[in-house]
Amino acid sequence: MGQQDPALSVVVPMFNEEGVLPLLAERLRTVLDGLAEPYEVVAVDDGSTDATAAGLHGLRARWPQLRVIRLRRNSGHQAALIAGLMRARGSYVVSIDADLQDPPETIAEMLALARSENLDIVYGVRADRSSDTAFKRLTAGAYYRMMRRLVGKQVPAQAGDFRLLSRVAVEALRDLPERTPVLRLVVPWLGFPSGEVRFLRAERAAGRTKYPFSRMLALAADSVTSFSAAPLRVATWLGLVGVAVCGLLVIAVLAAFVSGRTVSGWPSILVAVLFLGAVQLLCLGLLGEYVARIYTAVQARPAYFVATDSDPGDAGDPGAA
Ligand code: UDP
Ligand code: MG
Repeated sequence: MGQQDPALSVVVPMFNEEGVLPLLAERLRTVLDGLAEPYEVVAVDDGSTDATAAGLHGLRARWPQLRVIRLRRNSGHQAALIAGLMRARGSYVVSIDADLQDPPETIAEMLALARSENLDIVYGVRADRSSDTAFKRLTAGAYYRMMRRLVGKQVPAQAGDFRLLSRVAVEALRDLPERTPVLRLVVPWLGFPSGEVRFLRAERAAGRTKYPFSRMLALAADSVTSFSAAPLRVATWLGLVGVAVCGLLVIAVLAAFVSGRTVSGWPSILVAVLFLGAVQLLCLGLLGEYVARIYTAVQARPAYFVATDSDPGDAGDPGAA
């Protein structure tokens, strides 16, 4: 670490967030200037097509601590976050959403807790989700329950991507060979001493959510497959159950044959064949999900391309090309 490295980096991924920029800058700056320590704000413009880039450019003129990394095209929230984390230089790095759903004021609390208790990770935990829709609350609840079973109890429930990482934790992330780890699972899995700060999740300050249902599903599928091979074993278990049931049926049919009765019924045959066909397709599909991920991992394409970095420095960035 060089002498000019800031005490704190705040990474903000943003995609078409022109509406919240002025408010975000104001609140973030008030909090960070109040810390009276050197800091940088790493805004990652995830290929925005609105006036986000121009807005950031305008802000930079008046805010020397603002650093802007622009990705060549929209790569998604996780990839944008990783791009920012890998290039941040602070001794502590906080990631926060641009839409002010995560209150910037909590950053000061996170930093204080990390220092006083010597923690490498501080999670922002949503104390209350009443501002979210019932559907989002339901799906999020199911997601966190499933993840705690798969990864372990160290995964805090209701903790999204608002968190603080120490330099050591960021380096540990950098050393993972995975290109796009699901951060909210991989970070707890790293096993560093961690703590929690509770906050009230506000409503989006402006604009619309960039997380449609399809992206939520994709995140859930990535989460499961990156931590569990259990779905692959579904085929084995279904096969075993099938063998047991069919064994009993064979005995029944043979007994009927020996006692001179005929067993009638082509519908039962049809149902059995169709059912097994469906089970096989299901298992093939599950297998396919894993094969597809192996394929993507073997291709090893970068998850994002950095087009410009207003303050490139010498930060090594293995994810970028
Ligand atoms: N985001 C991004 N790239 C994308 C989608 C979203 O950088 O392709 C950013 C977005 O600008 C915001 C954060 O990720 O800062 C969280 O997205 P959003 O608030 O839309 O998600 P939600 O809070 O509704 O889950
Ligand atoms: Mg949001």
